[in-house]
Amino acid sequence: MELLLIEDDELLGRGICEALAQDYRVEWFRDGQQGLAALLDMSPDVVILDLGLPGIDGLDVLRSARRKGVTAPVLILTARDGIEDRIEGLDRGADDYLLKPFSLAELEARLRALYRRAHGRSDEKLSYRGLEIDTRLRHASLDGEALLLSRREYELLMRLLDARGQVVTRRRLEEHLYGLNEDLESNALEVHIHNLRKKIGRDLIRTVRGVGYMMDRD
Ligand code: CA
Repeated sequence: MELLLIEDDELLGRGICEALAQDYRVEWFRDGQQGLAALLDMSPDVVILDLGLPGIDGLDVLRSARRKGVTAPVLILTARDGIEDRIEGLDRGADDYLLKPFSLAELEARLRALYRRAHGRSDEKLSYRGLEIDTRLRHASLDGEALLLSRREYELLMRLLDARGQVVTRRRLEEHLYGLNEDLESNALEVHIHNLRKKIGRDLIRTVRGVGYMMDRD
């Protein structure tokens, strides 16, 4: 899961990044203008958006993003617990709210729920052929045997599973695993695919030559 965090509070932002970076890729921007530009550029899986921001206010970031066709689920963080703000946020296209202060466990649970909803999954378990995945525990098994997947192998597998039936381009996969700015070895993606295939079997992930990779719909 690829997250975009737009939050100007240094301590809170750092805390969220540190907590989530173990399991997810997080891009963090501290003002509304940059956050909005990143949102339009990177198509994250879920956006965590603070309302009180320098530059453009969080609600305006949200409105602009929705007008420009951004469909990613947005979780609003707010210290303002006035009902007006919540209603306005929902009107402008927010998907969920979290009032400060909140626990990181609560934040993570909400993020997973938004991600599942966006991908049409109603629960935290996913089955595909012999694979069983518990997205809450980030645990995968194949034919009942636990799989030991690295963080990037797991992310790669989930990205392909969520797009079942469609080709995912190399660029999208690289962005998903490494972010926009990281330099990476040109064959890094192939190495992860190779290692993943060794663990889950060669046939589940298909190479679409010159384009990317895919998994069949079912
Ligand atoms: Ca703020």
